[in-house]
Amino acid sequence: MRLILLGPPGAGKGTQAQRLIKRYGIIQLSTGDMLRAAVAAGTPIGLKAKDIMARGELVPDDVVIAIIAERIDQPDAKAGFVLDGFPRTVPQAQALDRLLAERGLKLDAVIELKVDEGILIKRIETRVAEMIARGEKVRSDDNPDVLKGRLEAYRRQTAPLVDYYARHGVLKSVDGMAPIDAVTRAIGRALKSTKARKPSAAKAGARRKRPAKRAKARKPGRRRASTHKRRPPRPARTARRKGAARAERKNRSGTRRSAVRRRLTKRR
Ligand code: AMP
Repeated sequence: MRLILLGPPGAGKGTQAQRLIKRYGIIQLSTGDMLRAAVAAGTPIGLKAKDIMARGELVPDDVVIAIIAERIDQPDAKAGFVLDGFPRTVPQAQALDRLLAERGLKLDAVIELKVDEGILIKRIETRVAEMIARGEKVRSDDNPDVLKGRLEAYRRQTAPLVDYYARHGVLKSVDGMAPIDAVTRAIGRALKSTKARKPSAAKAGARRKRPAKRAKARKPGRRRASTHKRRPPRPARTARRKGAARAERKNRSGTRRSAVRRRLTKRR
């Protein structure tokens, strides 16, 4: 199964990606996480991306496309993946189409988490407060000022992907403002309507398509049921016809009675 989670920062892509990887036995590919790891490790990519990320802007397309191209060839990506934070621009989406086509792969679905942008800032503030309470390190770009820039980048560069994937017939939109479990259920329902299947179930043949029933051999001379002409239904008896039938019955019993009488007089 190969999926994309689409939505502005704070829409809950990471949370839902975590649930999807457990449910479908696939991996999460988050370009944000990969770039943060590169920044932390001080790699050439990290050095290039550091300041751009701190400003809430997008890292150049060629950088993230190269990261994804390399990553989807790893053995752990064979069973499938959920892309979180990629693609973020139309050229990235086109590059992904090419990468998949070259490998004979295709996307099963793109899930758009629809959210109210006004509430996103509040969500990010809550997320930051929770991370601090857990003693976790807070992302440098998780503050209201940078978030506004990230939202602007989303609106300008990423939102056009909703139309892009709708045209490709793979877009599934889900209400991202619902409680987390309800969003997960909505995604599950959306994926049921795709041809995507759980790899474990596919392996076990749990949902294997039943072989089509073989048509019964026809006896020679018998007409096919579909071509058999049915007798038209009897018309409902009209009151007049009912009366006529009654008279006929009476007449017949009358004839029987007079025959009996004739036989008796003969004997006498
Ligand atoms: P995220 O964790 O997905 O919110 O990403 C954090 C930051 O990493 C973004 O604000 C961008 O600066 C950068 N980034 C992540 N993914 C991409 C991408 N696909 N294209 C460009 N920049 C990205």
